[in-house]
Amino acid sequence: MLGVLVLAIGIVVAVDRLYGHSSIAFAAAIVLLVIANAPMLRFNCPECGKNAFFRGLFVVPWPNRVCTSCGTALDTANPQKR
Ligand SMILES: [Zn+2]
Repeated sequence: MLGVLVLAIGIVVAVDRLYGHSSIAFAAAIVLLVIANAPMLRFNCPECGKNAFFRGLFVVPWPNRVCTSCGTALDTANPQKR
């Protein structure tokens, strides 16, 4: 997620320097961020449905390896997500 954010900022800065300020590049970067975040919102525990990105009240940019609610090992349940 952090890498995608850096990539998105990099695209905006690069296009900005090459072509001048472009709202199209900015829009493309936002779309990229939304696409990168879409799987994150679906990353729920298969046992209890708790979102793996929530640690208590905090949202973390990487999924928990073990469900904080029921203790299911999430990295074995969703190996394609890592
Ligand atoms: Zn769970």
